[in-house]
Amino acid sequence: MVREIIKLDRISKFYQMGDSRVDALRELSLTIHENDYMSVFGPSGSGKSTLLHMMGLLDVPSSGSVFVDGKDVSQLPENELARIRGKKVGFIFQVFNLVPSLTALENVALPMMIYDVPQREREKRAEELLISLDMGDRLRHLPGELSGGQRQRVAIARALANNPEVILADEPTGNLDSKTGEEVVSIFNKLHAAGKTLVVVTHDPDIARNTDEVVRIRDGQVVEHEISKEHSIRAGGGMELAGGLKSKVNEKLGVKTGIKNKVK
Ligand code: ADP
Ligand code: MG
Repeated sequence: MVREIIKLDRISKFYQMGDSRVDALRELSLTIHENDYMSVFGPSGSGKSTLLHMMGLLDVPSSGSVFVDGKDVSQLPENELARIRGKKVGFIFQVFNLVPSLTALENVALPMMIYDVPQREREKRAEELLISLDMGDRLRHLPGELSGGQRQRVAIARALANNPEVILADEPTGNLDSKTGEEVVSIFNKLHAAGKTLVVVTHDPDIARNTDEVVRIRDGQVVEHEISKEHSIRAGGGMELAGGLKSKVNEKLGVKTGIKNKVK
């Protein structure tokens, strides 16, 4: 049985906007297992970013539970959530979110401060990470002195700083040209091959096609969850899906044979 890392159990999230209520997520259940490579695919406003924030403990659901390593973290105070979040997940955003006044090296070293890693060690690890992402000749550059693709590499290095188990990326290629976007996807493929667990929010079908699982969401609900056959064998049958779904063998996006589950 493959280990569950993050489990969302019937989570809902609503935002009260004056008199009206926006239901961003509606009783959504989804489990992230060790070494999953998942894309969350859906139109703008379908709840993808909200979902990623729940997985990454950046926000708490209005109802339902979030489990990390089997423990319900839904009721924990923010300082405890922050500690779990820092070790467990690394975030990558569409707009990079680097600190403009810090160099590439300093941006990557920053997340290690919460765990009191000594400065020399922080810088050494940051340098190694940047070198591994072909950014060794840009260590002292500020974000404003880097191209979009280079900024995203810095952001990927930063996401890896505390060696998190799970990488959560929100439209990571949304601000990149297609060639640079492909380079980012190829970095994700390598991270997955190296054992990382990745969840990539996207509305780019080319990225979705690369991953082992595609979760389609619409109006805050999972409407389809496709798992490729390769993946389902690795994951011990791939039957780890929301209760009572029918599975049938199908093509995964016309490429791989897989198990496809449709939620009605
Ligand atoms: P996506 O990432 O798929 O575009 P989001 O998760 O950002 O979708 O948003 C889902 C819905 O929730 C949208 O209707 C959006 O307007 C609404 N929403 C998201 N964040 C907030 C917020 N902080 N306050 C109010 N409404 C929000
Ligand atoms: Mg979004």
